Amino acid sequence: MAKIQQKITTIRSVSKMQRVARQLAAEGKTIGLVPTMGFLHEGHASLIRQAKKQSDVIVTTIFVNPPQFGPNDDLSKYPRDEKGDVRKIKEAGSEIIFIPKADDIYPEDFQTYVNVESLTQSLEGKARPTHFRGVTTIVAILFNITRPDVAVFGMKDYQQAMVLKQMTCDLGYPIKFVIAPTIRERDGLAMSSRNKYFTSEQRPEARALYYALHTAKEMVKSGIGDTTLILREMKAVLSATCRTAKIDYVEFTNFESLKPTRHVVKNTICSLAVRIHGVRLIDNMKLL
Ligand code: AMP
Repeated sequence: MAKIQQKITTIRSVSKMQRVARQLAAEGKTIGLVPTMGFLHEGHASLIRQAKKQSDVIVTTIFVNPPQFGPNDDLSKYPRDEKGDVRKIKEAGSEIIFIPKADDIYPEDFQTYVNVESLTQSLEGKARPTHFRGVTTIVAILFNITRPDVAVFGMKDYQQAMVLKQMTCDLGYPIKFVIAPTIRERDGLAMSSRNKYFTSEQRPEARALYYALHTAKEMVKSGIGDTTLILREMKAVLSATCRTAKIDYVEFTNFESLKPTRHVVKNTICSLAVRIHGVRLIDNMKLL
C-alpha cells in the first residue's frame, strides 16, 4: 500500500486557494494540478503520482461541473464520496485538495465560457454538444485559480485531453500539459467512476468496449487496415459480449487532428462510446 503522507490541506474557498497558489509560487515551489470530479479510483491516483514526479506540490481538485453535463446526463446521480476521496488523494501523495462550491465558481451573473472550435465538433462533441464548452471553461477557471506549472489529464478521455491541450496552447497558459495512460481493471475495462453503476451481473458485460478495441488492434497487427472490416468485427464482439449494447459511435481518426480515416495508418486511434445496460462508457486505443 502507498505510504500515507503526514499532511494534507483541504481548501474550499476560491480566494484561499488563490492565496496559497501565489504563496507557493513566491516560495519557488512548482504546482502540479490534477482536476477530477471525485469518486476516485486508481486512474485518478495514477495522475496524482505522475504530477508528483514533475512538481513540488500537487493540487487535486474535486468538482462535479454542472455545465459539462447535458440534459440527459447523470449530473444529479453522479457518484460522490468525499471522505474516501480525501483518503485516496492523501495516499497518492497530493498535498492540497481543492473542493470549491458550484455557486462560487458559477455565481448568478456568470457569463464567460471558453470554447475550442474544430476539435470539439466530432466524437464526444457531436454526441454531447455542450459538453466540451463546460470542460474547457472549468479547466480554464481552475488554471487561473491554482496557477499550475504542470497539469495532468488522462488518456481515458482522449478527446478531452486533446481539446484541453489546444486550449492551453491557444490561451498561452505557461503550463506543461501531460497526458497519462489509461488504467484498466484486470479484464481490460477502463477504470471510471461510472463503473459503479453496474450490478455484479452486468459488470462482466462492460468488458465489451475493451474486447472490441483489442480485436481492432489484433486485426491491424495482422495487416488489416480497412476500417469497414474492422468496424464489422468490433460490432460483432460488442454484441457477443453484451447482447443489449447500444453503440453511440465507433470512429477511426488521426490522433492529433481527430479527422476521420477510412484506412488505418500511423497515428490512427479508435474511439468509441457504448451504452452498456444504460451506462454510457467511452474508451479508445491507438491502433498504429
Ligand atoms: P473524471 O473524474 O472522470 O473527470 O476524471 C478526472 C481525470 O482522470 C481526467 O483527466 C480523466 O481522463 C482521468 N481518468 C479517468 N479515468 C482514468 C483512467 N482509467 N486512467 C487514467 N486516467 C483516468
